[in-house]
Amino acid sequence: MLILPDPLILIFNFWKLLNCTQELSLYICAFNNHTIINLLKMLNLVLFGPPGSGKGTQSEKIIEKYELIHLSTGDILRGEIANKTDLGLQAQEIMAKGELVSDEIVIGMIKNKLEANQAAKGFIFDGFPRTVAQAEALDELLKSFNHDITGLVSLNVDKEELIQRLLIRGQASGRADDKLETIKKRISVYEKQTAPVANYYEKQEKYYPVEGMGGIDEIFDRIVSVINKLNQ
Ligand code: AMP
Repeated sequence: MLILPDPLILIFNFWKLLNCTQELSLYICAFNNHTIINLLKMLNLVLFGPPGSGKGTQSEKIIEKYELIHLSTGDILRGEIANKTDLGLQAQEIMAKGELVSDEIVIGMIKNKLEANQAAKGFIFDGFPRTVAQAEALDELLKSFNHDITGLVSLNVDKEELIQRLLIRGQASGRADDKLETIKKRISVYEKQTAPVANYYEKQEKYYPVEGMGGIDEIFDRIVSVINKLNQ
């Protein structure tokens, strides 16, 4: 049997430890950041519904409970307008008319946000996708990060109630597009261009309708029971 003096044992053990660490670091390198992030399944929700259905209000409550990132294309666009950027100047007139900003612009905005938040627990998409082309682009983008949409939660609210809510909001917020003529235009744009997005997700069995009439907390409880089933 080889009997080593104490200092040599120490050196021998140190050498073994070094080898072991090298092997371990190889494993860790192979198991890069992206892989680790992708092992954690994201909760990606589309909060869907016509203007005035309560998407913004409910999104605030959802992000607090589930620690998700809120991506509202309307808010991002209003930020661009406030900062008087080129994009904001392009979008301002279109938004004031109640029409949709081009798919290319909003898809680009969402792509930037996804890239900047890859370690997020998930996203809540509010006001996006608003066309089938945007929904297809979102699927492609998420796929490139190894993720997907968990579900689309659709808030169903009567048309008369939508108009009343938006008129009241307009008095408080002064939003240029919350006046009667533009509200009606936005609802008709929703019916023609946005409503088909629900079908798109229904075909993927990811469509979850929720009654959007009633008190804020009552509606929130209905949304939570859908999310909790999706998040099991
Ligand atoms: P919102 O705050 O979601 O009601 O959006 C306000 C306005 O911003 C809309 O009426 C559109 O002019 C524009 N907008 C917001 N999101 C989108 C989108 N995903 N696609 C096209 N236009 C959008």
